[in-house]
Amino acid sequence: LDVPENPVIPILHGDGIGRDVGPATQKVLTAAAEATGHEINWMRVYAGQAARDRYGEDVNLPDDTVQAIREHRVAIKGPLTTPVGAGYRSLNVALRQTLDLFANVRPTYYLDGVPSPMKSPEEMDMVTFRENTEDVYAGIEWEAGTEEVEQVRDFVEDEMGFDDVMHDGPIGIGIKPITEKGSKRLVREAIDYAIENDRDKVTLVHKGNIMKFTEGQFGEWGMEVAEEEYPDEEVFAAPDSLWEEQDEVDIPEDAVMVEERLADAMLQWMQLRTDEFDVLAMPNLNGDYLSDAAGAQIGGLGIAPGANFGAGRCLAEPVHGSAPKRAGQDQANPSAMILSGRLMFEYMGWDDAATLIRDAVEESISAGEVTYDLERQIEDGVKLSTTEFAENIVENIEDLA
Ligand code: NAD
Repeated sequence: LDVPENPVIPILHGDGIGRDVGPATQKVLTAAAEATGHEINWMRVYAGQAARDRYGEDVNLPDDTVQAIREHRVAIKGPLTTPVGAGYRSLNVALRQTLDLFANVRPTYYLDGVPSPMKSPEEMDMVTFRENTEDVYAGIEWEAGTEEVEQVRDFVEDEMGFDDVMHDGPIGIGIKPITEKGSKRLVREAIDYAIENDRDKVTLVHKGNIMKFTEGQFGEWGMEVAEEEYPDEEVFAAPDSLWEEQDEVDIPEDAVMVEERLADAMLQWMQLRTDEFDVLAMPNLNGDYLSDAAGAQIGGLGIAPGANFGAGRCLAEPVHGSAPKRAGQDQANPSAMILSGRLMFEYMGWDDAATLIRDAVEESISAGEVTYDLERQIEDGVKLSTTEFAENIVENIEDLA
């Protein structure tokens, strides 16, 4: 990304614990930028409760906020709580859809000092690319008992002949759209990331043996991207990778291998042979489950970062939500949002600041003085507030720079 000298970066602190981790993140990112010779012009933007307080009770997602992210192309946000009756299912989904941020990217890597249930945590360094806009999460579904659902039932029974599947009585029905455009752009993004970050492999994760025309089609379209859009020496589309071991295949040196795996088996492999996986690309639902499962292996929500990409933009955001029980108490772990900022810096080409953030967070966690979520997992851990923990990270940044 071509970033101006002193970029304007919109920041949305968010609801609930966003009020704690948002300001803490802003301080840490400012310190990392300054320590590496950059300057950020932060632009506070609002959504959720903060927007309602500022713009009026009906305004959850002001145009100003959407416009700022659209214009400045990189932004960071904390979690948002969607009020009941807001007019959409989720503020986050509305934001991602409005800005066409079609790829949700979550790196899962082991941070030194975090207790982990994994056999060999040091070998885990994976990035998941989850399609953000379609699949069963698109929200196309009908409630049991409505006229619409009965119309769909009639069509499926009478026109398609599935009368033995649709039992009598109440039924809920949803649609799983998987498009060529949605699948291909997601896989392209994952392959480009793998090439740019010297990764070895992109694994397309789907359940195409059962859902042939949706998940299976995702796999086929994904492999088409690998085969048709890149030179062989850059990207190698592994033949028949669903059914055959790839050890035998002769892969050009330095090429990114693109392979397919079935989603159920993948959940097992991801835990047993973590070191074999690198970049994963998958439809929305698989991506949700797999990235959470992967995150649990390296310490959980308090340290799990993420970012949404699409249309030449990056909106970084932690995986976690607004955790209302802990809100406004200066207790929550800011690491997830801080490490999301690291992804944003990488996207901007500020690699030195990004590395500094990771090293400083790792050093703070290794010291065993951490927020409550990690403190209870670490033997002899010392509990710090959000503010104190963030101050430690800033000190480490200054020492390491
Ligand atoms: P959550 O992620 O907010 O919290 C689950 C639990 O994880 C918390 O109770 C807490 O114990 C722990 N936790 C989460 N983040 C933490 C942190 N930074 N430090 C320490 N502990 C942390 O999930 P939830 O309770 O299911 O959702 C609460 C609200 O957040 C809901 O309104 C939901 O819609 C929203 N949400 C928003 C986003 C987003 O903005 N992207 C994502 C998920 C959920």
